[in-house]
Amino acid sequence: MKLREESGKTIRRRAPRFELIAGNVALDFVNTLDDRPTQPKELLATYADLLRFGEDSGVLDTGQFDRLLERKHISEDATQEVLLQARELREDIHDVFRAILKKRPVPAAALAKLNAAAQSAAGRMRLVAVKGGFVWRFEDFGGVDAMLWPIARAAAELLASDQLPYVRACSSKTCEWFFLDTSKNHRRRWCDMANCGNRAKVRRFYARQKKESC
Ligand SMILES: [Zn+2]
Repeated sequence: MKLREESGKTIRRRAPRFELIAGNVALDFVNTLDDRPTQPKELLATYADLLRFGEDSGVLDTGQFDRLLERKHISEDATQEVLLQARELREDIHDVFRAILKKRPVPAAALAKLNAAAQSAAGRMRLVAVKGGFVWRFEDFGGVDAMLWPIARAAAELLASDQLPYVRACSSKTCEWFFLDTSKNHRRRWCDMANCGNRAKVRRFYARQKKESC
């Protein structure tokens, strides 16, 4: 088995396309359906978008990205299938976390599908000796659906972690992007202060002004 150098993973040549604000790749992945509550906008329109998400989020390194983008040996049908599978996984992750956020029962079907994806990802992991210890690594990471494995695993690990109570949805009613609130007081309300937070502040400011002028 040929081992990849850890250092090769961080080299980036393209400017990121996705806004990764969640602090967890599984939650960032959920946010690839933008403006969910009002006018959902699909940010994973093509398999290439999925690859870009993989590269931006670091679950694919540049070499994997290039090989999969060229995909000379992969049929259009296969990439389309993975794209559909990716969106399905995303919605399962969303449904599970949303139920938790809303304090509702977790949908059994979504959890079962997420479990299956996480199990399949775990089956592709191997312990590898590195200097001073061992790390888990995905083997045969050139598969057309390789970016989905770390995402499924990240979702499962977050669910089983003590970080779960800090998963939030953005307070903007039109946004509701998910994120992990790692702030000191755990009072983060917005996906992004420069975006949603400021819009809400401006709205409050005008509402106050209007009230005062009445
Ligand atoms: Zn937001």
